[in-house]
Amino acid sequence: MEIRLAAPLQRDSVVDGFGVRTVIWTQGCSHNCPFCQNPQTHDFEGGALFDVEDIKDEIKNLKNQDGITLSGGDPLFQIEAVTEIAKCAKKCGLNVWCYTGFTYEKILNLAKKNPIYLEFLQNIDVLVDGKFEIDKRDINLLFRGSSNQRLIDMPKTLENKKIILIPESDGIMEKFKQRKDKVYI
Ligand code: SF4
Repeated sequence: MEIRLAAPLQRDSVVDGFGVRTVIWTQGCSHNCPFCQNPQTHDFEGGALFDVEDIKDEIKNLKNQDGITLSGGDPLFQIEAVTEIAKCAKKCGLNVWCYTGFTYEKILNLAKKNPIYLEFLQNIDVLVDGKFEIDKRDINLLFRGSSNQRLIDMPKTLENKKIILIPESDGIMEKFKQRKDKVYI
């Protein structure tokens, strides 16, 4: 199986979720959010094809990373490949974040027709959902661009059958800043 990526894996990101993360920039997106920061990732024929087994091998050999982040582009346009990658990362003890222009509710609807979408959600720790909306842009938000986007705690959401968000109080940011300081030392 192949996956189309906009770039090789990017290690040591501290801005794409909690901790130190490896980002997988998928290629292809048709959401067309005005003022998207990554328009070069929209073309479904752009970027380059990578073998999913090679990506999984890279993930298995990652060192000093807290997790992986699927971003893009929109990873959900390559659902089979990103599900394989997410499952591999979970088996390696890494946590998995995913950015998508689809809402959680839309993904659940897609899962009614194709259960792989549910399998994908079952292997995600945090889903950052929804399009970027320029009129809701807020630079103070944690790990997202506009206030309609949510940091969804996927394990708790699936367990409780209702959306549970990652708390942005309770010292979460402080913990993140400490971790970030550690990275820079
Ligand atoms: S979903 Fe993301 S990559 Fe796609 S247009 Fe919107 S902001 Fe850009």
